[in-house]
Amino acid sequence: MSTPIRTVGIIGAGTMGNGIAQACATSGIDVVMVDISDAAVQKGLATVAGSLDRLIKKDKATEADKSAALARIKTSTDYADLAAAQLVIEAATENYELKLKILKQAEAVLPPETLIASNTSSISITKMAAATSRPEKFIGMHFFNPVPMMALVEIIRGLQTSDETHAAVHALALALGKSPITVKNAPGFVVNRILVPMINEAFFVLAEGLATAEDIDAGMKLGCNQPIGPLALADMIGLDVCLAVMNVYLEEYGDSKYRPCPLLKEMVAAGRLGRKTGRGVYTY
Ligand code: NAD
Repeated sequence: MSTPIRTVGIIGAGTMGNGIAQACATSGIDVVMVDISDAAVQKGLATVAGSLDRLIKKDKATEADKSAALARIKTSTDYADLAAAQLVIEAATENYELKLKILKQAEAVLPPETLIASNTSSISITKMAAATSRPEKFIGMHFFNPVPMMALVEIIRGLQTSDETHAAVHALALALGKSPITVKNAPGFVVNRILVPMINEAFFVLAEGLATAEDIDAGMKLGCNQPIGPLALADMIGLDVCLAVMNVYLEEYGDSKYRPCPLLKEMVAAGRLGRKTGRGVYTY
């Protein structure tokens, strides 16, 4: 029997944390959202309110839905408030040392039966699980941005994750209206493992002068029904992020098929990181 999850604790009220809070609250699940400062939790809550306002404008939610959802989200800067949850989702800044510190702090206040998930994009779930006192109750829940809109959740089983933990978290993802897929722990999980090398390959095609950036993107949009071409997507993700991910795959898998394209490295060295710097493959 898997634990029914009625209250979810969320650590981190940033982009992903507040999105997960909204997805839970609009599905009737109570939330305790914790961050390091009152300003951070209030900003997260305001983002949820703004997102619900946009849904109301589009007739996809009502004022009553908004009030009910916001009433389900309790905010706090005290980890002790997480003790009310059956599952705590860690969605704090992507930094291994910081996440270990957060897990220790959370475990000090959580009952032994509480499940813990991490929303990490790149840190090993098996390694994080091993650092806790409940490795079989630890799992990855990789949501996609923006969480309220994106249907996919990658559920990542560490080597130690129990079937009960997986079943409880899988049931929660379904209760949130998501379409979960289950993945064994490995760098990049499924989606980024395929997506980022595809983007890297697009840089090789560009560097070899086989086609213009516009034609490469048009080819993948029109030929593969992708909503956005790989080079335009790289500009959105950040070229530095794409390069860092390729370097992780190269190191972790030890396979030269993951070598980053020299043109990608050159653009990052030049500070052309994409939309965030006003110039990447394209100029903004
Ligand atoms: P973010 O910077 O928007 O938010 C991180 C939040 O964590 C901040 O509000 C910060 O104050 C808080 N935080 C830092 N230290 C904390 C602590 N000790 N206790 C509580 N809160 C703390 O980051 P994000 O984009 O929401 O990413 C969060 C996680 O989700 C990362 O692991 C990231 O890899 C992963 N992720 C991000 C995306 C994305 O597209 N942004 C997608 C999937 C997964």
